[in-house]
Amino acid sequence: MFIGIDDTDSERGLCTTYLAAVLMERLKPLGEIVGRPKLIRLNPCARYKTRGNAALSFQLDSDRPDEVRELALKTLLELSDFSGTNTNPGLVIADEVTERMKAFYRRAVTEILEISEARRLLDLEGIWYRGFKKGRGLIGALASVGSDLPDFTYELIAYRERGRWGTSRKIDEESVWRADALTYPMTWDTVDHHNNRIVFAPHSGDPVLFGIRGSDPQAIMQAFKMIKSEPVERSVLYLTNQGTDAHILAGEIGSVRESQSYRLHGFVAEPARAIAKGHLFFPLQDGSARINCAAFEPTKNFRGVVSLLAAGDELEVFGSVRDGTVNLEKINVLQLAGQVELSNPLCPSCGRRMESAGRGQGYRCRRCKTREQGRVQHVVPRSLEPGYYEVPPCARRHLSKPLIRISGDLAQSVHLAR
Ligand code: ATP
Repeated sequence: MFIGIDDTDSERGLCTTYLAAVLMERLKPLGEIVGRPKLIRLNPCARYKTRGNAALSFQLDSDRPDEVRELALKTLLELSDFSGTNTNPGLVIADEVTERMKAFYRRAVTEILEISEARRLLDLEGIWYRGFKKGRGLIGALASVGSDLPDFTYELIAYRERGRWGTSRKIDEESVWRADALTYPMTWDTVDHHNNRIVFAPHSGDPVLFGIRGSDPQAIMQAFKMIKSEPVERSVLYLTNQGTDAHILAGEIGSVRESQSYRLHGFVAEPARAIAKGHLFFPLQDGSARINCAAFEPTKNFRGVVSLLAAGDELEVFGSVRDGTVNLEKINVLQLAGQVELSNPLCPSCGRRMESAGRGQGYRCRRCKTREQGRVQHVVPRSLEPGYYEVPPCARRHLSKPLIRISGDLAQSVHLAR
C-alpha cells in the first residue's frame, strides 16, 4: 500500500511530517514499512502552501488493508488542524505507482495544478482516497505517492514533546556548530557561517525540533547524536527530493511562465539596481527577450555578488518566476564582459597623466610640452570571477540544489555559500 498525505497543518500548528511519523508508528502492528518514508517538496510557487509545500508518503506491506485505511483516516482526523482556513487535508492509499502517477508528480513539482486534476486521476486509477473540506491536499498526497526520485537526499526530522509545542526551542548551539564541523559536507544547511546563525530549526509553533539534511544517513545520524537539546519525542529519517533542483526546468527568457522555476541563459543588460529594503534587480536579456532578476534582501551576502555584475556578462540564472521576475536561487557566471574605461593619455616623456589642451585640441603635458590626440582605452579589472554562486543557507529554498552537491561534477569554479 502506498500511503500519501498532505495539507493537514496550518500556520498555527501541527505538521504533516509529524502526522506521517505518528501514523507509521501506529501502523506497525498492521504491517511493515518498506524502504524509507518520503518527504516530497512540490512547486515552491504553489499559492496555498503553509510553509515549504511538503507532502508525505510511505509504503506499507500489509494484508489488513481495511484496518490500515481506517487507522490512517482516524489519525489524519486527529492530527489535522481543521480550523485552519487554508487546511484542506488529503489522504491517498494506492496499490501501485503507475506511470500516470509519476507524471502527475513531475507536474506537481513544476506546474500549478487544480484539485479536479487530482480527483480525475485518482478516479481513473481506481485509487482509494479521502479529501476534506476543499480536498486540496489530494494534489500533494497523490504527487507524493507518485514521486520517483532520480536524484534524492535525506533529512532527519526530530520532533518535540507535545507539552513543549509553542514554546521556544532549547537547543545547545555550540553542539550544533560542532556537529556541522564534523559532518559537513555530508550534511549541509545546518548552520550559516557567513550570517553566523543556526538554520536547521524552525521558529514556529509546530512539532518540529530541527531537521538535519545531507547525502549520507550515517553522517546525519552522527550529527544527530552530537546535538544536545530538549528531549526528542521521536525522529524519522526521510528520503527527499530536497536539494535536487527537481523544480527547475530548462527554459528561455521569452517563453517563461508565471509560478514556474527555470534555468535561463542570457546577458546582463544593465547593472543591478537597489530598491527599498535592500532588494536588488537587474535585467537579463537574450536575443529577443528580457526579464528582470531579483536578489531579495533575505538572500543577504548573495546580493554582494549580484551587485558586481556588469552589462554584457553572460550568465545562467536559476529561480522561480513570480510577478514576471526571476527570484534568484543561484547563478552561473559563464563569461565576464570586458569592461573598458577611457582616460587621458600618459605623457610619453615623464609618464604623468596629460591634461586636456582645450576642446577638440587633444591632450598635453604642461612640463614636457608633449601632445597626444585622443583618450586611451584600458580594461578595468573585475572583482568577480566566472563560476557558480548561490544564496546562503539561511535563504535556501528546500528544493534548490546546494552547490556542495555539484561541485565535484563541474569543470567551472564553484563559490560555495556556507
Ligand atoms: P508544511 O510545509 O508545513 O507541511 P506546506 O507548505 O506543505 O506546509 P500545505 O499545508 O501542504 O503547505 O499546503 C499546500 C497545498 O498546496 C496542498 O493542498 C497541496 O496539495 C497543494 N499543492 C501542492 N503542489 C501544488 C501544485 N503544484 N499546484 C497546486 N497545488 C499544489
